[in-house]
Amino acid sequence: MNKRILVVEDDVAIGNLIRMTLTTQHYEFDIAQDGSSALQKAISLKPHVIILDLGLPDMDGIDFINKIRGWTQTPIIVVSARGEEFDKINALDAGADDYVTKPFSVEELLARIRVALRRTSSEHQLEAESALFVNGHLEIHYLANTVFVNCVEVHLTPIEYKLLVVLSKHVGKVLTHNFLLKEIWQNALQSDVPSLRVFMATLRKKIEENPSQPKYIQTHVRVGYRMLRVHDDE
Ligand code: CA
Repeated sequence: MNKRILVVEDDVAIGNLIRMTLTTQHYEFDIAQDGSSALQKAISLKPHVIILDLGLPDMDGIDFINKIRGWTQTPIIVVSARGEEFDKINALDAGADDYVTKPFSVEELLARIRVALRRTSSEHQLEAESALFVNGHLEIHYLANTVFVNCVEVHLTPIEYKLLVVLSKHVGKVLTHNFLLKEIWQNALQSDVPSLRVFMATLRKKIEENPSQPKYIQTHVRVGYRMLRVHDDE
């Protein structure tokens, strides 16, 4: 079955670039140039992924995400301009899954679309409710609170474990520092980001083969972290 993509972009040049890219990859798609027609198309097209420009003529990108998230978890990839770090982070906190920054390459966009499509595959939906999480050589047994790498049990501190679980429950999605801090410490402050970095470093030492070139957990500078689905073919 063809994967359907909804592109929400009012810039004609960027819209055309995305159109050409998706056509060569045989994706089915539709382009909306403003927020209200995009909402209509999201209902009629039932897209597998939404690519969303944050600067729309009639609606704030964040409002659009809030509206969409009222009824569907379809992955949203946000397109933001360079220097709009704050918007990007707000969009992720509002429920966007990922972002690309203009100017972006065609390969970059396609890679993000593939990650997003993997999140919606039915296999992973089932996995979300399962007691066992498997990603490459990493295994988490949620009920027993145990973690294995290459079949060997790894001993994590309670915070490292919590961090790993949150990332695994949202595999493929970029999680902001703010989101992670709240999940782990509830009343955390933005100023706690350095402690988060420390826990991330010790966690990586325990689960990554090469912590300086992490395979499972990706760093998004000034934004947050994401657990990637590890595939042998990539
Ligand atoms: Ca725009």
